[in-house]
Amino acid sequence: MYNANAFFKIKEPANEPVLGYAPGSPERGRLLAELERQAGQRIEIPVIVGGREVLTGDTFEVVMPHDHGHVLAVCHQAGEAEIRQAIAAALESKKEWENLPWVERASIALKAAELITTRYRYILNAATILGQSKNPHQAEIDSACELADFFRFNAFYMTEIYKEQPNSLPGTYNRVEYRPLEGFVFAVSPFNFTSIAGNLPTAPALMGNVVLWKPSSDAILSGYYMTQLFREAGFPDGVINFIPGSGRTIGGIVLPHPDLAGIHFTGSTGVFNTMWRTVAENIGTYKSYPRIVGETGGKNFVIAHPSADLESLNTALVRGAFEYQGQKCSAVSRAYIPRSLWPEIRRRLSETIMSIEVGDPRELHLFYNAVINEGSYDKIMSYIEQARNAREAEIIFGGRGDKSRGYFIEPTVILTRDPHFVTMTEEIFGPVLTAYVYEDDQYEEILHICDRTSPYALTGSIFSTERKPIQLAFEVLRHAAGNFYINDKPTGAVVGEQPFGGGRASGTNDKAGSMLNLLRWTSPRTIKETFCPPQDYRYPFMEREKPAPGFEEKGFFQLSDKKPKSKVR
Ligand code: NAD
Repeated sequence: MYNANAFFKIKEPANEPVLGYAPGSPERGRLLAELERQAGQRIEIPVIVGGREVLTGDTFEVVMPHDHGHVLAVCHQAGEAEIRQAIAAALESKKEWENLPWVERASIALKAAELITTRYRYILNAATILGQSKNPHQAEIDSACELADFFRFNAFYMTEIYKEQPNSLPGTYNRVEYRPLEGFVFAVSPFNFTSIAGNLPTAPALMGNVVLWKPSSDAILSGYYMTQLFREAGFPDGVINFIPGSGRTIGGIVLPHPDLAGIHFTGSTGVFNTMWRTVAENIGTYKSYPRIVGETGGKNFVIAHPSADLESLNTALVRGAFEYQGQKCSAVSRAYIPRSLWPEIRRRLSETIMSIEVGDPRELHLFYNAVINEGSYDKIMSYIEQARNAREAEIIFGGRGDKSRGYFIEPTVILTRDPHFVTMTEEIFGPVLTAYVYEDDQYEEILHICDRTSPYALTGSIFSTERKPIQLAFEVLRHAAGNFYINDKPTGAVVGEQPFGGGRASGTNDKAGSMLNLLRWTSPRTIKETFCPPQDYRYPFMEREKPAPGFEEKGFFQLSDKKPKSKVR
């Protein structure tokens, strides 16, 4: 294998600028053309194993959430044979991939970022708009900017990790090599971010691992276009295997496999727990302990102190709760508002929410579109119904849904008198915000209630124009959020700026898009080289001292001569 004699450098990247898509802009024109192209065809999506496209014949239809009669693609699902072939293909490509100089892997990542921000920008944005019902801004910050950022920053962080080396004493040379894991990584992605789906298989691959990628069935169109991007960027066949299909079937075969070296998961807490349980049940069968990385659910909060600025609070609540229809893991879903601010916040919220138009994201001016599928729609509506029928809650805005053409649910605000009401504690993953009004002098108590109310600890915000209440929130809510915001909405983390992830039931907090995450995909090997190894087993302390004058030297006896004397009383 060719290995160049140079220390290559990767510059710390800047974040990809977000395009505006204003009327008349060139990007808007290109996006519209691509939307029309993708909506006008019905493509066939294969399973991809070892670079080979497999049409299994066991298919499902990929539809638009906002127009579910419109079929965008037919996707073939992996069955047992393809899953086993994918494992074999990954393991077969492992040796060559892990022996490739790291700079080659970095170049592939940097090329992928370049392709994303140029030719693939409109392909991925259009697929995300059509297949996942995002507006152009939400698609742009996700499938163009964040995805490119993941590739660029990960390549940079990889070199930062490789630079981390131990000291050496004179005569020795110590080093640490960051090996990939032994076996394959199982990447399982959610529907709600194209960038996360792209990062889950490629972050371990960048560190030299081989991967089986199981995409969400609700983000298949963007997922498929990403497989084309990966190939064009230079990921060799077999390094990332694309296996759409049923999570239970695929997980059932992949998770107990002895070569499972790691799980890179983002999705719900329940599914993550199931996966972890399967690993635990099979713990004796693995060649190494699998690394388990999972970013899961949230019940994210906004707490307003009586000193909060009203307009920034209102904007944070609306953007935080309703952008992408509340389907961000970081979306605000519970708010604690002091009684003195509530009448004005309620008025402003009502005014803002009334201005939100709901509809098909191909109408590019719309802020708000459909939820992902019928299962989600029904689940969200059942929470709304519970609130409608509860004595301790009332729906103050929205609350209606219509799934006849697309899965549309109005932005909904529930007001509750019980800080432990079900919609204050459980993840709904939809456009539902529940507000609880507290007495102004109970600020500290409300911080404690917020901390104890839900099992999650993903994101949260504090709004206050005074420092002391912020300090108190920091202290009481220390473990209540992995991403904590002051006077800002708790969504919209940016790679390289706010490493993302939470604790408690929100996951392993390995901070996607940071060095911490990449470290999980390595198994360091420490190497010590001694230039002139010692030639004698004896240490200096064993040399015999000269006896001090007046002291007679006593002889010594050998261990075998030493006989214990029995004690006689
Ligand atoms: P989900 O848990 O329903 O699905 C996630 C993935 O797991 C899908 O690909 C699914 O097919 C697969 N899956 C399901 N059962 C499986 C099994 N038994 N074995 C293996 N794979 C299986 O989640 P979703 O609805 O796609 O996404 C929404 C969830 O993701 C929310 O809970 C949200 O909070 C969470 N999320 C968290 C973060 C974060 O960073 N913390 C980011 C995005 C989404």
